[in-house]
Amino acid sequence: MLDLWYTENHTDSVRFSIKVKEHFHSEQSPFQKIDFFDSEEFGRFFTLDGLMMVNEKDEFIYHDMITHVAMATNPNIKKVLVIGGGDGGTVRELTRYPHIEKIDMVEIDERVVRLSQEYLPLTASQLTDPRVTLYFQDGLQFVKEAAAATYDLILVDSTDPIGVGEGLFTMDFYQNCFRALTEEGILVNQHESPYYDSYRNEMKRAHEKINGLFPIARVYQFHIPTYPSGHWLFGFASKKFDPLEADLEKWDALNLKTKYYNTDIHKGAFMLPTYVREALKGNE
Ligand code: SAM
Repeated sequence: MLDLWYTENHTDSVRFSIKVKEHFHSEQSPFQKIDFFDSEEFGRFFTLDGLMMVNEKDEFIYHDMITHVAMATNPNIKKVLVIGGGDGGTVRELTRYPHIEKIDMVEIDERVVRLSQEYLPLTASQLTDPRVTLYFQDGLQFVKEAAAATYDLILVDSTDPIGVGEGLFTMDFYQNCFRALTEEGILVNQHESPYYDSYRNEMKRAHEKINGLFPIARVYQFHIPTYPSGHWLFGFASKKFDPLEADLEKWDALNLKTKYYNTDIHKGAFMLPTYVREALKGNE
């Protein structure tokens, strides 16, 4: 019997492995290496350049947390920009809000979208919603060219700050996001993980830049088994709304059924462990 395992290096001396039933697709796109697998524990999953992106079992955690925290903070969000997010999971969650009027998604790699539509309908199913417009281009360039004050919310659903994702962690990018956001605008972005040194450095760099730019810059956490250390963070940057002052009853009244997010997690997720707080303040 074939004993096939997918193994990812989480650091130079730590590895994470998943027993694989089938490695059913592999290709090199113009931007990255794309691999799709099927597994007993996590169902189908895909990797980009050897890093786990999305799997059927824990995707709900990531997609709930990237979307609903901002949506509950400002119940009047109408125009949203998603950068990256080729698997469609973030767009799927956004389309559940009837009051959203427009969702632009900018994904650099069309192949990720097409393969997700073919192999991962669980996440990609709502990319055909009439409110959604897909743009296949670099997110950095897209926000540079976007008119000022266009979006109420920008969700950066990107890869790590290596390769094509690198530009989405720069000051230039964050400044352009600030400009493209309305006066009530919110930016949610990848903040990596606090646990292993290399990821912690990326977390600090991202936070330092955003903190200097937005009047409100917070960080929130969630637990996701397949990302390095299982402890992952998003940044919440905002021109006006503080997620900890939000009237969350309005979100509860929408009666959306979610599997991870709820309005207690909303508050709790911003309560960070001491070592993370200190790292973010720069006085570890
Ligand atoms: N949940 C995932 C994670 O954190 O591992 C992210 C998923 S999503 C598949 C990330 C997407 O960002 C990829 O499909 C990648 O092609 C896209 N991406 C990377 N850099 C980009 C850029 N500069 N502009 C637009 N999309 C980009």
